[in-house]
Amino acid sequence: VASCVFCQLLSGEIEGDILYQDDEVAAFRDINPQAPVHILVVPRRHIPSLAEVGSPEESLMGKLLLTAARMARQEGLEDDGFRVVINTGDDGGQTVDHLHVHVLGGRGMGWPPG
Ligand code: AMP
Ligand code: ZN
Repeated sequence: VASCVFCQLLSGEIEGDILYQDDEVAAFRDINPQAPVHILVVPRRHIPSLAEVGSPEESLMGKLLLTAARMARQEGLEDDGFRVVINTGDDGGQTVDHLHVHVLGGRGMGWPPG
């Protein structure tokens, strides 16, 4: 989607700190990190949000979570832990309408979230 910042980043139209990519998913550093480690994992295909996924996305959703776990391990977060978040829609605080999984770590996280 031409107007989508994550599609632009994946196509190389804008710069990003891409840590991993294959034919289905990509992982890059969040431009405005909320923790010492803050990575976003996204599908290459433009899917607007978690509210839009269905059975055809079953394996893709698994891949996104596996990639999130792999990125967390790669950043050395496996012992102290980390948080995985998918903000969805207005109440969920979603600001970029291309499905993304936040991987946050390197500090203790509060609960409940704001
Ligand atoms: P959300 O609020 O869950 O939709 O998260 C969107 C995230 O995308 C925010 O944490 C932003 O800091 C991040 N973001 C926005 N633009 C970019 C960009 N060009 N490169 C990397 N991260 C971005
Ligand atoms: Zn997109």
